Amino acid sequence: MIKPCECESPGWCERHQCNKTPHLHQLCQTRADYRSLWDRLTDDRGSAFPVGDGSAETFPPIREQFRTYTAALRRWWKAGRPRRPKEEVARIVAICRGCEFYTDGRCRLCGCPCNESRNVLRNKAKMATEECPLEEPKWTAWTPPTK
Ligand code: SF4
Repeated sequence: MIKPCECESPGWCERHQCNKTPHLHQLCQTRADYRSLWDRLTDDRGSAFPVGDGSAETFPPIREQFRTYTAALRRWWKAGRPRRPKEEVARIVAICRGCEFYTDGRCRLCGCPCNESRNVLRNKAKMATEECPLEEPKWTAWTPPTK
């Protein structure tokens, strides 16, 4: 059972060690999956949205981004380097564009680039093995339809 949100209003959140905008505060009040993810990130990194001034509009530390992306590449390589077709990538990018964690072509939760580039090294959405990092992912790993 995930503890409920304890903040009465937006602003500094002691539990997740960050400033929450009204939107993030509302998510924390209403979505157990977000609270759970932020609890985990706070345990791992010291804040749900670390870096600099504690603003919610930040990316994970560069070392962590590197580690996350390297792990994604390793998974993808081990699986035989499966690529999503461009229609599938476009579908994912449309989901990310509508997501509160998307900034400048990247996911702020993991820091990974997620865009329409065909270059796997610059686009996590191209790797069929990858999925959205939320506990209830907004998109999941892709397997080609069976013929
Ligand atoms: S990967 Fe998931 S959390 Fe990140 S921007 Fe896309 S939909 Fe949002």
